[in-house]
Amino acid sequence: QLRVRFAPSPTGYLHLGGLRTALYNFLLARQNGGQCILRIEDTDQTRYVPGAAESLVRAMEWAGIKFDESPVIGGPHEPYHQARNGSESAFIDTTTPASQRLELYKKHAETLIDCDHAYRCFCSPERLSIVRLEAQKVGRMASYDRKCAMLSKQESQERADSGEAFVVRMKVPEGKTIVQDEVHGKVEFSNKEVDDSVLMKSDGYPTYHLANVVDDHLMDITHVIRGQEWLPSAPKHVILYEMFGWDVPKFAHVPLLLNPDKTKLSKRSGDVNVEDYRDKGYFPEAVVNFVALLGWHPGSTDEIFDMDGLTAAFSLKNIQQSNAVVLREKLDWINKMHLLRRAETQEGLQAMAVLLRPKIEADLGVLPPKYSNDYIARVIDTLKERIKNIHDVPALCGYYFRTPEYNSQESLAYRNKIGDDTLGRILPQTLDYFKSCEPGELDKEGAKKAMKAIANEHKLKLSDVMNALRYTVSGVKVGAGVLETLATLGRPCVVERIEMVLS
Ligand code: GLU
Repeated sequence: QLRVRFAPSPTGYLHLGGLRTALYNFLLARQNGGQCILRIEDTDQTRYVPGAAESLVRAMEWAGIKFDESPVIGGPHEPYHQARNGSESAFIDTTTPASQRLELYKKHAETLIDCDHAYRCFCSPERLSIVRLEAQKVGRMASYDRKCAMLSKQESQERADSGEAFVVRMKVPEGKTIVQDEVHGKVEFSNKEVDDSVLMKSDGYPTYHLANVVDDHLMDITHVIRGQEWLPSAPKHVILYEMFGWDVPKFAHVPLLLNPDKTKLSKRSGDVNVEDYRDKGYFPEAVVNFVALLGWHPGSTDEIFDMDGLTAAFSLKNIQQSNAVVLREKLDWINKMHLLRRAETQEGLQAMAVLLRPKIEADLGVLPPKYSNDYIARVIDTLKERIKNIHDVPALCGYYFRTPEYNSQESLAYRNKIGDDTLGRILPQTLDYFKSCEPGELDKEGAKKAMKAIANEHKLKLSDVMNALRYTVSGVKVGAGVLETLATLGRPCVVERIEMVLS
């Protein structure tokens, strides 16, 4: 049974890279009928941010990533927090009690001490910083000098019993360690480069390394998919698995995300918080599609996928080693493709209308009830070719909801271009035409024919008449197709606006 996990630390919000890691885990599980687990790695209490876990979960729910076990829904390996317990629905707050897992980590650290795979270290922070500096000076990768590894078992026990503060360090053996990675192949590390890392801190909390390995084992994790920044930690983890005598899971370290200038993707350079993308009007399926392609390719020329398509196409083999550049234009294009997909169905249009309504109201004020979501859906449908994001709509759609701003500079310039003469010649006839139409849905083909006849009569091009009409009903030069606009506005509104321009 394939089991994967997403194991974020609650230090803020869901980063774009975190979403991608969660997604790859989710896809692999879904594709193989396996399970995807959410585990909150909160052992570093100094980095803990209240509310961060909730925000992670909210962002993943938005993206459509579902977990089979998590702090929210529970599961057979509870708790799914390493340091603090979550209550049934809520997450950690500073008043919730310590997680039962802490006992597990402690027990496993003691086992390692008993087998001589780990030792207590009583060195003071002052000594450690001196030792670290010395290591730096001689270019030694492993910074701790192993002073406390020399202590006899008895002395170590006595000092611990007497209440002296200590940490537990892993005793890295000699030799080399091979990390077998699904993306990078065989990666070899000399153990000389691997530090005797701390496994248990003096405050009784485990470090990431110990808690991560113990939990991955106890939670039966078969595949560890995570960011490449964790590859240097992987030999430590492999050594720990071997010390415990446990099977090593499969590893896949996925490439880093970069800005277009090849620096590491950061907050300063743009949006990294997944919820910022939501707030900017990007669709979850577009953001998911976008991050999926950051470092993975489907092995075909297809680029537009929904979750089912990704699930079918995903494979660890097609994850690239090189880092992936995050290009906003690419996301915009993918978003547009998904927008057009949504616009193919009534449901899709309706869902967009629901999202868009508050955005329009923020710009134009509360809309009267006659502007139903059905109407907004039609508006979106007329504008879909001209937008990449539904948030582009408010700036384009004013005339659908209120009288055109004929006195704006833009509008006056457009009127000048068309010419009052043309307007004066053709508008009375178009007015007659629309007045004479049957009530009900405006017949686009009929209108087109009528406009053609008017154009011929005045020796104008059809486009001249259409532009005059566009100006008359919208006041602006760019917008949806004229016939679609007329049909959406409806006959009474078209009549009213022609009369307004003629008066
Ligand atoms: N807690 C680590 C993180 O924040 C997890 C790394 C891993 O998946 O092992 O990314």
